[in-house]
Amino acid sequence: MSRPKKKVYIKTFGCQMNVADSEQMAQVLTQDYVLTDRPEEADLYLINTCAIRKKSEEKVRSLLGSLKALKQQRPQMLLGVGGCVAQQEGERLLAAAPHLDLVFGTQGLHRLPELLRRATAKRQVDVALEEGFPPAQPRRWHPAATQTLVTIMRGCNNFCSFCVVPYVRGREYSREAQEIVAEVQDFVAAGGIEVTLLGQNVNSYGRGLAEPLTFPQLLRKLGDIPGLARLRFATSHPKDLSGELIALYGDLAPLCEHLHLPVQSGSDRLLAAMNRGYNREQYLQKVEALRRRLPGISLSTDIIVGFPGETEADFQETLSLMQEAAFQQAFCFKYSPRPQTRAASLPDQVTEGVKAERLARLLSLQDQLTLAAHQRLVGEVREVLVEGASKRSAQELTGRLRTSQVVNFSGPPELVGQLVPVEITEAHPHSLKGRWVAEPSPFCRRPEAHGSPRRLSC
Ligand code: SAM
Ligand code: SF4
Repeated sequence: MSRPKKKVYIKTFGCQMNVADSEQMAQVLTQDYVLTDRPEEADLYLINTCAIRKKSEEKVRSLLGSLKALKQQRPQMLLGVGGCVAQQEGERLLAAAPHLDLVFGTQGLHRLPELLRRATAKRQVDVALEEGFPPAQPRRWHPAATQTLVTIMRGCNNFCSFCVVPYVRGREYSREAQEIVAEVQDFVAAGGIEVTLLGQNVNSYGRGLAEPLTFPQLLRKLGDIPGLARLRFATSHPKDLSGELIALYGDLAPLCEHLHLPVQSGSDRLLAAMNRGYNREQYLQKVEALRRRLPGISLSTDIIVGFPGETEADFQETLSLMQEAAFQQAFCFKYSPRPQTRAASLPDQVTEGVKAERLARLLSLQDQLTLAAHQRLVGEVREVLVEGASKRSAQELTGRLRTSQVVNFSGPPELVGQLVPVEITEAHPHSLKGRWVAEPSPFCRRPEAHGSPRRLSC
């Protein structure tokens, strides 16, 4: 008779990349562990950490401190910290937290079972950075899973002067295309609908592969997989966004009409100091090319306020770029100095007060732009992938448009996991309200390509 499995609780901080890494942790542990959502019954408690801003690191330290009590109640429970903070701090974390059993970096995930075995006898640290892409782990899909994240690259070579990623995730490596295609095929065969490809700079995918392939060529291969309805990716670096990729919008059927294109700042002086590799005009030219190709494309971005030396005039440039690009969504952050990065030692650090004030002005402008974009959708019938019950009401369903906006509407629970046509009836600042168009299945309108709406049956 096989032994009952132990229970693992995984707390994930940070981006989609960390969510994908946590899934991989769960996969490599399946032989001995099942996932639990109740930390108080865990035999193994793992924290997957984010180091991108100081605040995310502080949250990890505060959770770690609060787990002293749980570890006292359950001394046999193993406690591990993985991911970017673990990579950055290594031994220092063990020294700071005597109740911690294991520290593992961003690339040791496949070594986790062995590390855990060793951690039962002696506290362990494994923060080695490897070359290449780690061996693929076979993935098992939950029967109800309709969306998934697929990692296609790891690391980053760009060294933007504010960013800790190249230090904690190492150099950039691409995953072999046949492995990616096989994983997506498996997911679709198991009933999957939407795939998001992950990498820090997906536009540079393919460098160093045995059989060279560009990112658009990879997308074409995936676009040919029958049954794959939606294909997304993150993150796309503006400096490497090619005409070949722009041409795929409106041409490759599963490719969703949304692009996340982080700009960071509208000031040329700051873009140069950030080492981003493009200027304001080049960024806006790419936005224009995307809109020429697909007028209805929705664009989102990341912006940092208060980068060292940022003046009011620089900030005004960011506000005006935001308006010109008419982003549908923007993730805005106060600059946070990070260890090892060049920007952390630059003179003229901006005060917290100024950062907070600029952030508020930025968010207020983005709210207006988002609401205006939402209002333009009212009256349209669009395809929604239904994700579950809405946060506000169990009676309501929630899902996303291909252009990525959240839509809430009434409908039977059987619609969860399906693509359905929904008429947009109300625009709100952070979401849309809609009406399920139950029958007869009409057509959903995709954002227009070259002025001609394309039809698809939902
Ligand atoms: N690879 C992506 C790119 O180049 O656009 C970004 C990945 S990073 C995990 C996500 C976002 O965090 C960045 O786009 C940036 O806006 C923000 N970020 C990174 N470092 C930061 C820092 N030191 N302070 C504030 N925000 C930061
Ligand atoms: Fe960080 Fe720049 Fe790499 Fe993005 S491209 S992960 S911002 S260094």
